[in-house]
Amino acid sequence: MTDQLPDWLNPAKWMDFTESADHRKIQTAIMSTNPGERELALMLSPAAGEFLELMAQRAQAITRRHFGRTMALYTPLYLSNFCNGGCVYCGIAADRRAKRAVLDEKQLRHEMEAITRMHFEELVMLTGERMPEADVPYLRECVAIAAEYIANVTIEVFPMKEHEYRLLADAGCTGVTIYQETYDPVIYERMHRWGDKRDFLGRIDAPGRALRGGLRTAGLGALLGLADPRHDILCVYRHAKHLLKTYWQAGVSISFPRIRPQLGGFQPDHPVDERMLAQIVFALRICLPEIPLVLSTREPQRVRDGLAGVGISKMSIASKTTVGGYSDDSDESTEQFEISDERDIPTFCEMLRSKGLEPVFKNWDATYRGPAHYANS
Ligand code: SF4
Repeated sequence: MTDQLPDWLNPAKWMDFTESADHRKIQTAIMSTNPGERELALMLSPAAGEFLELMAQRAQAITRRHFGRTMALYTPLYLSNFCNGGCVYCGIAADRRAKRAVLDEKQLRHEMEAITRMHFEELVMLTGERMPEADVPYLRECVAIAAEYIANVTIEVFPMKEHEYRLLADAGCTGVTIYQETYDPVIYERMHRWGDKRDFLGRIDAPGRALRGGLRTAGLGALLGLADPRHDILCVYRHAKHLLKTYWQAGVSISFPRIRPQLGGFQPDHPVDERMLAQIVFALRICLPEIPLVLSTREPQRVRDGLAGVGISKMSIASKTTVGGYSDDSDESTEQFEISDERDIPTFCEMLRSKGLEPVFKNWDATYRGPAHYANS
């Protein structure tokens, strides 16, 4: 299954641990002072599901130690839903009857004014695959405009070449999010029926190219439901450790997207239920204490409330997944997937405060903008 994975990413030797774990080994792993890949594999095992409460307590204590009683907040902004991709799980794949739209400068400024009124200082701007309607020159312009309004402008778009990432870094972009979707090459090929996204290894290397191109942060993740979640999460861990070792001054974060209802009606072969999602979050928090773990509005209210501060340290809120969604001139048929948590910002912040968590809209300043240089890259 993992033939095409590079050696540094291949978790094959640890997969057995997820099957052969016993209670004593799992408890030792949860309480380990220096957990690594072996401990992660044990905590991801089916048998570790019985220790969810212990894992939650440890994950919460570690989150408090490294992030205090805070929750970083951000919002996504869809710039374009033009896409020639054939991802079976996506509501805006090329064969869906989604209405296509791309923001022009005036519309982008309207969106940014609406986002600024909500006090956000961190933004993720999204597009589909590389298209004439939304290629690098367009993105560069959008980054420069967004950077006039808020401090931290990041992108979740198509993989690029290193010099293209540098152009965006020069324009004020600080970070990139690129989910591998799945690290199983066979399933990856089946899920991505056509388009540039079929380049499995090129996508794996994209976060590294982005950092070499001068971006400061890279967000990783697997789309939970596509393949064996234990295998994918072990790969995400390996990917994160590899980036942190190679670009040690960079920031790496991990998100936990689960497949949501979308135009096309794709049903996952490996559904991840709420207990399994919690187990994954707790296990990664215990093994990666300092990395921001991110949960979006894809997840329902009860899951987000339950995981806030218990592993998760960063969340989106008041999200729109339509093009032009913030300034009210959007069409629902442009949406990539349905969001689940639709609470407004005051309601969500009230929930955070009731749990003793302080919402943080700004934790970085534009003064530090500009391409990063990694000495050992
Ligand atoms: S997931 Fe991205 S690349 Fe794939 S069809 Fe959707 S927008 Fe296009």
